[in-house]
Amino acid sequence: MQCCGIGYDVHPLVEGRKCILGGVEIPHPRGLEGHSDADVLIHAIADAILGAIGEGDIGKHFPNSDARWKDAPSRVFLEEIRRMLGARGARLINVDATVIAEAPKVLPHAPAMRAHIAGALGIDASRVNLKATTNEGMGFIGREEGIAAFATASVDVP
Ligand code: MG
Repeated sequence: MQCCGIGYDVHPLVEGRKCILGGVEIPHPRGLEGHSDADVLIHAIADAILGAIGEGDIGKHFPNSDARWKDAPSRVFLEEIRRMLGARGARLINVDATVIAEAPKVLPHAPAMRAHIAGALGIDASRVNLKATTNEGMGFIGREEGIAAFATASVDVP
């Protein structure tokens, strides 16, 4: 059975943090704040895949009260989800995601992000589609106070 899931995440942009999106460090004066590395794109993708297999969300499996995930690279969430898929004989078909950021520019880094995400999930990079848009200067994203991401995932579940 083919199942789909949706994911959404947002993190604030603050001074003194690295800006890591899709596992790639992007040169930028500010970075995303959160318990882990705050990789908003990977978090949205993780939620989409967990949604597709009916496994709740990233907070259920990787709670921010758990010291194990403090400043953890979000890649480990995808690797754990890959194990969950394998354990139930499920196959990830594709991931599609959109990053919404006024700055930094995301698309120049998309090939590296795709390779990183696909590598963590054990699928071909052609199965990971990334898109980026600004918020046309409006709202908290437009004021560069934060970055958001949406994702969907399709999973073949036995
Ligand atoms: Mg998050």
